[in-house]
Amino acid sequence: MDNFFQHKARKRFGQNFLVDETIIERIVRAIAPKASDRLVEIGPGHGAITKLLLQRCPSLTAVELDRDLIPLLQFKFREYPQFRVIEQDALKFDFGSFAVQDALRIVGNLPYNISTPLLFHLLSFKGKVQDMHFMLQKEVVNRLSATPGTKAYGRLSVMAQYQCHVQGLFPVPAQSFRPAPKVESAIVRLTPHSTPPFPAKDEKLLAQIVNTAFQQRRKTLRNALKPLFPELVAESVPLDISRRPETLSVGEFVQLANTCFERNQE
Ligand code: SAM
Repeated sequence: MDNFFQHKARKRFGQNFLVDETIIERIVRAIAPKASDRLVEIGPGHGAITKLLLQRCPSLTAVELDRDLIPLLQFKFREYPQFRVIEQDALKFDFGSFAVQDALRIVGNLPYNISTPLLFHLLSFKGKVQDMHFMLQKEVVNRLSATPGTKAYGRLSVMAQYQCHVQGLFPVPAQSFRPAPKVESAIVRLTPHSTPPFPAKDEKLLAQIVNTAFQQRRKTLRNALKPLFPELVAESVPLDISRRPETLSVGEFVQLANTCFERNQE
């Protein structure tokens, strides 16, 4: 009998365990792990994806917050001596400490309740990451890959696409999990750009501008950015500031941030 039979799914840890073998195989095929990969899984849970990952990459390391799951995972995968499971909060985990030759591969069926802060935390290690494959709420995958002018386009879209090539891969129905989540899910692949197509001179300033702009997405740029630049005038930036923030492409946000950066230097 599975040694996880006594473990009860905990809502506060966002635990919805995958039980659909076809979907699990499809996810692992999309990841295509190799034995030499520096592979890290966030939230292995009962080890549904872990099991197939380990068959191809026996040196997998997992980061799991639920301490009750640690001994169960160690027991289940005891025939893999290189397998490590670290009891840690992925939100606080230093993924950079793990990278070898900047080629970390991060995967996971993420806890949906912390997915946005977790994505921002993971993006902060982008220079050391080869790629990331995640199961997320479908709505979050739509936001990650959204194009300007759409409802889903916002801070997450701009900041993720600034740093990564984003590919929504395939949807996963709620029946593939136990317990079934109330939302639809999807798999996304994020591949950090080795050279950003639109390099920002100051990434913190870009993040600040994007954040401020989308707090008032229906206003004009001139008004939305008032908290940051009370004096923003049409002649000072290379964009029409009567446009709404949600219509700006990633490249245009970078152009705006670079102009503001240069003006700050004057
Ligand atoms: N990978 C398993 C699967 O697909 O069946 C479980 C996925 S479940 C949606 C999310 C997993 O992340 C759970 O095992 C949960 O305990 C773990 N988790 C939740 N919050 C976490 C955190 N902050 N850091 C690391 N793991 C976390």
